[in-house]
Amino acid sequence: MAKRDYYEILGVAKNASDEEIKKAYRKLAIKFHPDKNPDDKSAEDKFKEAAEAYEILSNNEKRQRYNQFGHAGVGGASGGGQGHGGMNMDDIFSQFGDIFGGFGFGGGGGGNRSGGRRMTRGSNLRVKVKLNLKEIANGAEKKIKVNKYVGCKTCSGSGAKNGQYDTCKQCNGSGVVTRVQQTILGAMQTQTTCNVCSGEGRIVKDKCNTCHGDGIVREEEIITMNIPAGVAEGMQLSMQGKGNAAPRGGINGDLLIVIEEEDHPDLKREGNHLIYSLNISFPDAAMGTSVEIPTIDAKAKIKIDAGTQSGKVLRLKGKGLPDINAYGRGDLLVEISVYTPTNLSTEEKKILEGFKESKNFQPNPNKKEKGFFERMKDYFE
Ligand SMILES: [Zn+2]
Ligand SMILES: [Zn+2]
Repeated sequence: MAKRDYYEILGVAKNASDEEIKKAYRKLAIKFHPDKNPDDKSAEDKFKEAAEAYEILSNNEKRQRYNQFGHAGVGGASGGGQGHGGMNMDDIFSQFGDIFGGFGFGGGGGGNRSGGRRMTRGSNLRVKVKLNLKEIANGAEKKIKVNKYVGCKTCSGSGAKNGQYDTCKQCNGSGVVTRVQQTILGAMQTQTTCNVCSGEGRIVKDKCNTCHGDGIVREEEIITMNIPAGVAEGMQLSMQGKGNAAPRGGINGDLLIVIEEEDHPDLKREGNHLIYSLNISFPDAAMGTSVEIPTIDAKAKIKIDAGTQSGKVLRLKGKGLPDINAYGRGDLLVEISVYTPTNLSTEEKKILEGFKESKNFQPNPNKKEKGFFERMKDYFE
């Protein structure tokens, strides 16, 4: 299923300010909130869709990547494995503190699902993935072994032996400690995260023996990632929720995939175009021939016309790389240079001497190829 544009979902312009984005999201979140639309699947989908759009557009870095690479830049690698954007309800409600400023959205509704306690979040994992040109052209499924925190199976990630917790006495389960300070401006109330329970509001009663109360253990996991076609060196994709698990049942971090590109021995990449430098002999250039050149997946035979000049560029349309946002495909450009012999025998020299005065051998400015930059202008503007 094709994803809708995030700006379109929130109904804001591409250059909308952070405040406008927040406002638009707030409106949609209220409209489609599950408490207001019980058992309405389409409202729930819209609710999730808006949350995902907000998640990306409210984060400067993610928004930039989205503007540049579209959905592929902000989680396209998740492919089908993640389902609908990978945001679950807990993720969404944990955003709300930020959006509704802690004003108890919906009273006892979903906004308080986490009980006001701070949700722990696992850290992001970053892995590098090296791809060759063929994989970049076709997209690739890569399996990679990562060492990461996963939920402890003994205690189902709770950290507690019997799944039991005590309410934190320091903060009475609120996760925050409120202090009143006297200042020159009068009494000021400050809230800080409770240091006894780290804001979780509860404390494990009997610690699980396997994870010592953390709810997470280190494990090796094979992760399968679907890299979309057209990625480039340095691009970063993210798989939501595939990073480190959070202590005691919080939200998983993300897996960030940094793309590395393997150089191809013959083909140079320039955006979505590929360039191949072809060197031909003078007789071939003068009399014409056909040669085999490498392409991404195989070889292609191309015809060299008689009278081909050095600097001529042949264009194999669509034989380049696909665009990451599926805006067509680049070309394969074959740049021809004519090889001038360097070690002539006496006999060869003698033959060539004979052509020196021939009219056909005199340079003709009208047959000269365009200069490099002039030729490339059409492509790289
Ligand atoms: Zn506490
Ligand atoms: Zn455990």
